[in-house]
Amino acid sequence: MAENRVSILLVYTGGTIGMVENPSTGVLEPFDFNYLKDNVPELRRLGCDISIVEFNPPLDSSAITPEEWVRLASIIEENYQLYDGFVILHGTDTMAYTASALSFVFEGLDKPIVFTGSQLPVGKLRTDGKENLITAIEIAAARDDRGRPRVPEVSLFFENYLMRGNRTSKISADQFSAFESFNYPHLAYAGIDIRYHERSISRSEGIPLAVNKTFDPHVAILKLFPGITREVVEAILGIPTLKGVVLETFGSGNAPMTPWFLEALREAVARDIVIVNVTQCVTGYVEMQRYETGLLLQEIGLISGRDCTTESALTKLMYLLGRGYSTEEVKRQMGLSLRGELTLEPSDEGGGREPLIYRH
Ligand code: ASP
Repeated sequence: MAENRVSILLVYTGGTIGMVENPSTGVLEPFDFNYLKDNVPELRRLGCDISIVEFNPPLDSSAITPEEWVRLASIIEENYQLYDGFVILHGTDTMAYTASALSFVFEGLDKPIVFTGSQLPVGKLRTDGKENLITAIEIAAARDDRGRPRVPEVSLFFENYLMRGNRTSKISADQFSAFESFNYPHLAYAGIDIRYHERSISRSEGIPLAVNKTFDPHVAILKLFPGITREVVEAILGIPTLKGVVLETFGSGNAPMTPWFLEALREAVARDIVIVNVTQCVTGYVEMQRYETGLLLQEIGLISGRDCTTESALTKLMYLLGRGYSTEEVKRQMGLSLRGELTLEPSDEGGGREPLIYRH
């Protein structure tokens, strides 16, 4: 590697960005990474040294599991001292989960890990993949005037916006702007220039790097809906190996007050299952003291997920349970902001950012 040139490790896990169309069926299939290199010759003109590691075979992100999170984390850990930044190419379907998971793995991160992907393969004329890839590399390589990385966080770049990874959700199956960070400001905007929003970018200066990559998969998501039956709730909460649940409630953290429902929650809490209350709304904040129904949930022992996403609550639970902490410690840390994944003190608008003005 030439001296003073920034070095970037590109990890290709799979996903649409590197897929090609099967000529006979029209179905998108994963392809060899050389396809990506050949279709983005601009990579050579970026002014940084880029090395590539690829998952073999590349995976559609719907097949990604905690096992691949660990594989990805290990690749970054093993190469941490050798590179200045990391760009992860990942399918969009579960990218928000992987980005959230990796944000918890790396404590004291002081280098950029930027996730990106695309809605159209790079070989297609109207692809969004080229721009996403090139800008993600530029961001991973960017230094401030003190020579520090501009965004030493796990982030996600998609269609002009850089977002904190553990604040993102996939919001569109077909638009180019497929991700949003509803409750936290964007970290950067890529227009003619890349404008970094310094105040929103976090730095873990002085905290030594620690990599904890064990995930406990004994978790579930339980989404409430009007008319949800006792059978469904009890079937999920009654899973013998269950240790953690993300309960997706209504509005500011409300749930039905039916006695059987509350009893099922009480029993689960008594069995040391950690239940995190997350709202089904895309913006805003769980406030269990606002209504009687929420207050009851708090009294039963549910933890407020505040304004975090389901993706981040779930992966954080898997991470904390994987660390082997006691139930009380998992509950305590679920209420803290470990990597900027939740807002501790909401603004008057009720969340970590002002109400979103939709771009479409
Ligand atoms: N199914 C693909 C995946 O998530 C979609 C994409 O890459 O955008 O891997």
